[in-house]
Amino acid sequence: MSERNTIAIVDQRSASAPAATRPRIPDTPAPRNSLLSDGLGRPLRDLRISVTDRCNFRCSYCMPKEVFDKHHQFLPQSSLLSFEEILRLATLFVAQGVHKIRLTGGEPLLRKHLERLIEMLAALRTPDGTPLDLTLTTNGSLLTRKAAALKAAGLQRVTVSLDGMDDAVFRRMNDVDFPVADVLAGIEAAVAVGLGPIKVNMVVKRGTNAQEIVPMARYFRDHYGGRVILRFIEYMDVGATNGWRMDEVMPSAEVQRLIDQHFPLDTLDPSQPGETAERWRYRDGRGEVGFISSVTQAFCGDCNRARLSTEGQLYLCLFAQQGHDLRSLLRQPHPAGRPYTDDEIAGAIGLIWQDRSDRYSQLRASQPASSATAGRRIEMSYIGG
Ligand code: SF4
Repeated sequence: MSERNTIAIVDQRSASAPAATRPRIPDTPAPRNSLLSDGLGRPLRDLRISVTDRCNFRCSYCMPKEVFDKHHQFLPQSSLLSFEEILRLATLFVAQGVHKIRLTGGEPLLRKHLERLIEMLAALRTPDGTPLDLTLTTNGSLLTRKAAALKAAGLQRVTVSLDGMDDAVFRRMNDVDFPVADVLAGIEAAVAVGLGPIKVNMVVKRGTNAQEIVPMARYFRDHYGGRVILRFIEYMDVGATNGWRMDEVMPSAEVQRLIDQHFPLDTLDPSQPGETAERWRYRDGRGEVGFISSVTQAFCGDCNRARLSTEGQLYLCLFAQQGHDLRSLLRQPHPAGRPYTDDEIAGAIGLIWQDRSDRYSQLRASQPASSATAGRRIEMSYIGG
């Protein structure tokens, strides 16, 4: 067993998961455009849509090579939601309060003709006629080639994952020997076509890349000032395969102090409710940094995020164990022998959200790491970060 002590995954994708529940349809359809709140009073505002379970990286904290090896069966194309199915669901979510859609994966830029989906989603409007906040999270490997087409299709901004400036460290973390220079070139291409403000996310793992914190801060300060926002993410116990240990978590407070010693920081107010990052700005005006602290400073209190897997399973938390099979409502007939209507599917989404009480990070500390649930959490590579 390698020092990463990875665990064999429980394949939760719909093919083998206990019959993911076919969502309940309300007896009376929900009034159109009614905004939804969950069991803890949190509105539904942010929908993350995974468009593929494939990735060309094998980051140890998300898709360890030992598990996602050459024998790993990725999903067949037929089980992925088509662009038309994604658009139908997205339209129903937007009508009930979603105003931000983030495309994720796996690596979303691996999905063929993604620009076409972006064009379709960019045409959506919220009930008050506002365009959506349409963004995408990528590992940056294909960004140099795709940035201009993504922008032209209507994408507004991107978030790029980058875990170090040192080439050897970065190649070790992505575990496919991918050079840091190519990701930096992708970020430059995204800046050049105006896909901003661009965010760069660094997952900090003590003992692996903590020495990269200051070089990352220095690089993005010096090259981009405020045009690129660097965020440091605490290493999380997502999924069931990354062999997570608390002693490999570097609390954001420690990261923030380290940066403050080199580049003094001042706090900034959140830019919107439900924001995951705590914002700080450089006192000398060279931009801002963020800290996403799911382990040491849980932010479940105003979590307004839902996640749609590439197979149409709706998950209500990054650490969820079970999804809700919306695809079955798109592809299988109503018991009355006809297709489900938009109102019925919208109603089903409403019931699912209203029943939501997820707050895993808030409860993490009170749940023993070895608890029975640990092995059944859905993989982040399947539902997107
Ligand atoms: S742990 Fe779950 S409920 Fe809490 S912030 Fe993350 S996704 Fe939201």
